[in-house]
Amino acid sequence: MDSAIQNYIVIVSISGVLHMLLVIYALTVKTNFSGIRTFVWMCIFSSIYTFGFAFELASNSLAEAKFWIAIEYLGMPYIAPCSLMLVLHYVNLERYLTRRTIGALLTIPAITSLMVATNDWHHLFYQSINVRDNSPTVLIDVVIGQWYIVHGSYTFACLLAGGLILIRHWKRTYRIQMATILATLYIPMLGSLLYLLGQSPYGMDPVPIIMSFTSTLYIGAILSTGMLRVSPIAREKIFETMRDAVLVLDREGRIGDYNRSAARLLPGLGEGTLGKHLSILTIPEIEQAIPATENHAAQEFKLERTIQEQLRHYQVRISPLLSRKSELIGRTIIFTDVTEQMTLHNKLQRLATTDGLTQLYNRTHFMELASRLLVSSVQTNAPYAVILFDIDHFKQINDSYGHDTGDAALRHVAAVCRALLRSGDLFARYGGEEFVVALSGVSPEGAALLAERLRRAIENSPLASESGDLSMTASFGVCIRETESELSELVQQADQALYAAKRNGRNRVVRFSGGLPSASSGGEQRG
Ligand code: GH3
Ligand code: MG
Ligand code: MG
Repeated sequence: MDSAIQNYIVIVSISGVLHMLLVIYALTVKTNFSGIRTFVWMCIFSSIYTFGFAFELASNSLAEAKFWIAIEYLGMPYIAPCSLMLVLHYVNLERYLTRRTIGALLTIPAITSLMVATNDWHHLFYQSINVRDNSPTVLIDVVIGQWYIVHGSYTFACLLAGGLILIRHWKRTYRIQMATILATLYIPMLGSLLYLLGQSPYGMDPVPIIMSFTSTLYIGAILSTGMLRVSPIAREKIFETMRDAVLVLDREGRIGDYNRSAARLLPGLGEGTLGKHLSILTIPEIEQAIPATENHAAQEFKLERTIQEQLRHYQVRISPLLSRKSELIGRTIIFTDVTEQMTLHNKLQRLATTDGLTQLYNRTHFMELASRLLVSSVQTNAPYAVILFDIDHFKQINDSYGHDTGDAALRHVAAVCRALLRSGDLFARYGGEEFVVALSGVSPEGAALLAERLRRAIENSPLASESGDLSMTASFGVCIRETESELSELVQQADQALYAAKRNGRNRVVRFSGGLPSASSGGEQRG
């Protein structure tokens, strides 16, 4: 056997072995790449093809060669459509790879396999197939038939389409991986073109040799870039399907990239805005925050946007993008929708601070706000008063009309009093049927007068209930800050005054003064 042919066989066999190694690698590697199965099949088909070719070259008779050709064609026709599918997986278009499209893509290859195996009966693939005269080994010369043209055109079309799709979705970050796939598509294509034009050595098909080269390329890309292990598209997909809106800016603030959520959130964003300055999106909050990231510190703030007529809250984080030399090369802006958290937070806040029945502040929250108001009143030397009042004989309302009417009465008293208070006055349900008001900036006389107005309002606003109008009265204790008192002390003194009001006949206001509560108005007997 000619030594060139022998070398040829050796190289082609190596190609087959390399493809089998790729199969083993792809089957064992942990990956999130959706096209891994396609890759495995492509390598299996390549392996069948190259080994078949090696055996064809080593054949001693035409019949033997024909047998191995039929084997080759169990692999070869499928490689190009597999490459096309691999590209589709790679650029995140695998949604087009349904059972039906895969079936359609593999139909012509399947017919080709069948045609080659049965060629002797119809001669549609090879019109004739002969052993070449004067050749150093059993070299086959063929005259191609109609189906060969179909098969050849289909193979070219698949490879061409795969390459074009890849170029269309070119991503600089993955250029090594993408260039590798491109090479495995177009270099074999060039090889078969040379073969068909009769420019290959010995008129032999150079594609299997080329494939040993391209499989080496694959191995190189796998080892150097982690190809197959980390699918760029998986990353791309994560970026695209993230709930968070992401915007990538360059150093000068021009829009470099964005994901689907960002396009939804910022209607101004689109293909046309790539490369344009962020200012076209008119989000002043972001533009104001950007200079602060100049010193490489991330910035966070809240932003509100109305999306589909619904107010939504976003936590915005602007992070600097740094080069390896720690130079600022751009920024990422991430918008996290925190509307649900905000709603929940507000709800919890409301539950923690308000009384469920009357919707007034609860005692704890009152003490907190009233303490703060007291501090600022002390600082500005403004007068400060606490009014505490308790509904008279409330137990009787419950006993006579039921607990629900009691509840309605509490809500009613709260509403009647609320209407008489200013928005700055702190009004709360202190407990049971006891209420409290804290006032700042009102004179002692003013505070007592207000208590009196509240008392009269309660007395004169009966609750309309099913069993008729229900009159109520309340007793009031008022305490005015004189020195730097504690809130709890003031409330206690107001309580003492309230107790005195009860003792003195209820339905009256008693002002606490210098240790002795003094009655000022009202009286149960008058009510
Ligand atoms: P006084 O004039 O001395 O204040 O007499 P009173 O009956 O109002 O006082 P007492 O403290 O004996 O009774 C208060 C009642 O208020 C007892 C309790 O069942 C009722 N109460 C407390 N909280 C609620 C509530 O949320 N709803 C209803 N319906 N009743 C309540
Ligand atoms: Mg009471
Ligand atoms: Mg009470």
